[in-house]
Amino acid sequence: MVINNIVSKEKVWELLSEIPDPDIPVLSIVELGLVRDVEVISESNVIVTLTPSYSGCPAMGVFKDDIITALNSSGFCEVEIKISLSPAWTTDWMSDVAKEKMRAHGIAPPEKEPESELRFARQKQVTCPHCGKQETKLVSRFGSTPCKALWYCDTCEQPFEYFKCF
Ligand SMILES: [Zn+2]
Repeated sequence: MVINNIVSKEKVWELLSEIPDPDIPVLSIVELGLVRDVEVISESNVIVTLTPSYSGCPAMGVFKDDIITALNSSGFCEVEIKISLSPAWTTDWMSDVAKEKMRAHGIAPPEKEPESELRFARQKQVTCPHCGKQETKLVSRFGSTPCKALWYCDTCEQPFEYFKCF
């Protein structure tokens, strides 16, 4: 029974890592750090704990359904989704691999700044995901989704999206 549980748990993580984030489909919800815990109660019953990237993100409802569908089709009939708001999700939970994938997709990954610097900096500089230069400017605080801002690179004269740091 114990062995079964371990196998099932791995299987659940595997299934979850195939679910893309609705905002950034190149990344899975696991890579983004949105899945906090998986608890296998029995071979058909599983509890998945999620932390939303931020409360206003409309994507949350979409992938909740995706999780239930994916797990249901793999034999987990009872899927319970728990939402954990504390500790709050932070862009630190995103893996370096995830940030790299994001950059390759043309979205500038969140850049961590020391808090003191953040407090006094009027204009934050974001590195262009295309050319790596910092001669960039903010075009719009909201890009295609509220999680992203629209930036423009003066060096390669291309717009790009920046995933905001939370
Ligand atoms: Zn550029």
